[in-house]
Amino acid sequence: MARILLVEDEPKMQRGLRDNLEFEGHEVTVQGDGSSGLQTLLRESFDLVILDVMLPQMSGFDVVRKTREKGIRTPILMLTAKGEEIDKVLGLELGADDYVTKPFSLRELIARVNALLRRAVPADTGDTMMTLGDVTVNFASYSGSKDGKEFSMTPKEFEILKYLWQHRNGTVSRDDLLTNVWGYDESVSTRTIDNFILKIRQKIEDDFAHPKIIFTIHGTGYKLIA
Ligand code: CA
Repeated sequence: MARILLVEDEPKMQRGLRDNLEFEGHEVTVQGDGSSGLQTLLRESFDLVILDVMLPQMSGFDVVRKTREKGIRTPILMLTAKGEEIDKVLGLELGADDYVTKPFSLRELIARVNALLRRAVPADTGDTMMTLGDVTVNFASYSGSKDGKEFSMTPKEFEILKYLWQHRNGTVSRDDLLTNVWGYDESVSTRTIDNFILKIRQKIEDDFAHPKIIFTIHGTGYKLIA
């Protein structure tokens, strides 16, 4: 299952895509214009964005550009219009990962979605080193140091920090952490997550009471600034 943001203004297309992606087992959030799409992308984390080019408020191109400017590296699949060769080139140049030309078959779209999601996995697991100021963390060997001095963390703390690092500069909700670090089955309270974050801060922050790396986003979750 993946969390997918669909930014598309045509109701029929919205419904068709959402139904089919949900049928494939994905969780789909739909926005109908470019600026709502961008805001959602900055606020929440997704595994994939499906982005129409022609959108009200803000074009798909602007959404891609601003997303990449903010350091968000979520894979983006663009929906371009038939015959608009320039759309494909521009979209990819601005940082989109792939495109599908309208009209497309749902089977083709689902295949592209699955390919991008597969591709995203090695990119993430390859993201094994975090270097930030005097803090260095190796997520492969579960080791870390601050100002040259090694510190230890539990595997769960490493996994939380790794998830925040992979989604750095974007807001990670407590639900994201629950789903991605703990999985669905276990019942973990948000208080537990906050305690883990405190433990991590005690190790990587200069002053854990005044964090400069992992910020609390009130009412939502956390953001690792890099
Ligand atoms: Ca459109």
